[in-house]
Amino acid sequence: MAKVKLYNVENYEYPRSEKVDSRFRTVQVFECRICGSLTNLVERINDSWLGVKQICPNNGAKWHSDLKEKRQWLDSYPHPATYKSEMRKEIIEMIGEIPDEIITEDIAGNPDMKKGKLFF
Ligand SMILES: [Zn+2]
Repeated sequence: MAKVKLYNVENYEYPRSEKVDSRFRTVQVFECRICGSLTNLVERINDSWLGVKQICPNNGAKWHSDLKEKRQWLDSYPHPATYKSEMRKEIIEMIGEIPDEIITEDIAGNPDMKKGKLFF
């Protein structure tokens, strides 16, 4: 297997092409806030945190967009505390109903797992 080149984006290392929207692998491991999946695949976005956008391998799945919608709804409006806690319970139940095997991870190369996961 070919060795995968990993970039340390915390040190502002990027592929030489510097092309916006080019995808590459990072030393950092990122955890999706929506589904908890791990990835080190990112896309170059100049004006974002660390200059990259993380790509969740479950992004295209319907359950992922349903969860995302719920989380965004929860985060973006002021809701009464009881509503929030009900909503959180619902989200946890939704995640519980997703079989583990369909929550895929996307790690390539040998990233630094000791660094701890960064959320995206
Ligand atoms: Zn995800």
